[in-house]
Amino acid sequence: MTDRMPDIVSADEWGLFEDSPLKVISGPCSAESEEQVMRTARQLKEAGIKVFRAGIWKPRTYPGSFEGVGAAGLEWLKKVQAEYGLKVATEVACERHVRECLAAGIDLLWIGARTTANPFLVQEIADALVGTDAIVLVKNPVNPDPDLWAGAVERIYRAGIRKLGIIHRGFSTVDRKVYRNDPLWSMAIEMHSRFPDLPFFVDPSHIAGRAEYVSEIAQRSLDLGFEGLMIESHCNPAAALSDAEQQLTPSQLGEMLSCTLVVRSKDSDSPQWKNNIHELRARIDILDEEILRMLSSRMEVSRQIGRYKKENNVAILQTSRWDEVLASVLEKGRAQGLSESFIKDIFNTIHEESVEAQNRILSGPSSGRQ
Ligand code: PEP
Ligand code: MN
Repeated sequence: MTDRMPDIVSADEWGLFEDSPLKVISGPCSAESEEQVMRTARQLKEAGIKVFRAGIWKPRTYPGSFEGVGAAGLEWLKKVQAEYGLKVATEVACERHVRECLAAGIDLLWIGARTTANPFLVQEIADALVGTDAIVLVKNPVNPDPDLWAGAVERIYRAGIRKLGIIHRGFSTVDRKVYRNDPLWSMAIEMHSRFPDLPFFVDPSHIAGRAEYVSEIAQRSLDLGFEGLMIESHCNPAAALSDAEQQLTPSQLGEMLSCTLVVRSKDSDSPQWKNNIHELRARIDILDEEILRMLSSRMEVSRQIGRYKKENNVAILQTSRWDEVLASVLEKGRAQGLSESFIKDIFNTIHEESVEAQNRILSGPSSGRQ
């Protein structure tokens, strides 16, 4: 499903990133003191950053953790604008935050993951944005629910916001693996395809949870062609009052941006590239058609089996048969260089569809002898 939003203003036109090839928003997880904000902002400016972020209202898991400096931080952000000419961004979680930020001239607002998960709050924020020309980014909800994310985007869009974008920051999981949040890239890609007009940012810091993984996630995002990054950076990460483990120093960030990351272009003008890519895509199209034809034939055989089972009064599920099929395709797939999880996903989906089709036959009207 594609939700076209043709009147969305491209991020190039937001007046925030000048003509940087990569749009980067960076700054500390939290504004902690005027000194920390100003020092980090100055160092980030030196690293080439144009948009400075800092959370002033912090949604923390436990009470008693540092919950942000509140509206006092707005004054520091104004000072960052005035002294360093940087644009500034902060997180809003309710109507009051929106009003205070807009009154203070904050350039970009984002809705955090915990807020996106709550339609009441998103609607309240949307109502407060009506009639404004605010720039708003919507992070994904903490849980991997693309519809909840899409619904939040829709609410802000319906409020008339056209400088609108999304941020992928990974999803909470029960069993935390290497990264703090599961990147679930397939869901990010699904959102990107669903809202092709919306500028798409990735927040590698909150996916990573540790500074050492930020660069590989940022590179993955660039490889996928997403257009912006939000990365946490602090003048002294070890002393940060929130998310200390995942913040980079401004100089680490500068080095990563200028030396480590490879920015990919969206397209290439080279005639040879165009020719080759055209040919390769044509081959993919043909293969996809063949896959569809084969799937259709397979389903037809599966329905024949269903009718035969019905005639003989045999149950649909024969687990041992399916175990054999799966083991056999896994072995053959491995021999052809295909990953186990890929083969499992595909064949389990095919199996589910076959069982569904046979179910319909079994519960449908009987023909012939019965
Ligand atoms: C943040 O950006 O500091 C933050 C709280 O992020 P998230 O909403 O993604 O957890
Ligand atoms: Mn943070």
